[in-house]
Amino acid sequence: MARIGVLALQGDFEKHQQAIEVLGHDAVLVKTAEALSQCDRLIIPGGESTTMLKLIDRMNLRNILADYVQRHPVFGTCAGIILLAREANALPASPFAMLDIRVERNAYGRQIDSFIDTVPWEAPEGQRELEAVFIRAPRILETGPSVRVLAQHGNDPVLVQQKHTLGATFHPELTDDRQLHRYFIEMV
Ligand code: GLN
Repeated sequence: MARIGVLALQGDFEKHQQAIEVLGHDAVLVKTAEALSQCDRLIIPGGESTTMLKLIDRMNLRNILADYVQRHPVFGTCAGIILLAREANALPASPFAMLDIRVERNAYGRQIDSFIDTVPWEAPEGQRELEAVFIRAPRILETGPSVRVLAQHGNDPVLVQQKHTLGATFHPELTDDRQLHRYFIEMV
């Protein structure tokens, strides 16, 4: 049984907590350095990336998180992938740069702020499908050579991995499908 942290400063952390528990693992809601130090892996949830970055600084978590993401598997979903990117527009502080990607925040426009679509992904056991829920999602504009694209929506990469860092531009915690949480908990 693994201890999976979910950064719980803001955003959609409770659904991730439930997903982890459904898979039989321990979920730790992380608001402090002490809680983070107990976790084998960390999920950075969706929410508002600007607010999360401000709270990270206000709560003096920047250095401890920067160190943690270098050494542990981390999964960022929606706002979470923005925090793990090398570059994103209009942020109050720099993101953690664990994924060599450039993203544009809120890139899908106002009318289609939110949509659900089925996308194929490269699961370890072969190609599978998942339901991807996009909510004011970022778009990945560039991926560096060490980034593996595991799923695309049209031409846009929407699920990427670089070594021990996984990122999705959508919200896997909002469906009952636990493929991605299981993949994250078992990867590397
Ligand atoms: N639009 C948000 C941001 O820029 C992300 C939205 C989400 O996480 N659902 O941070």
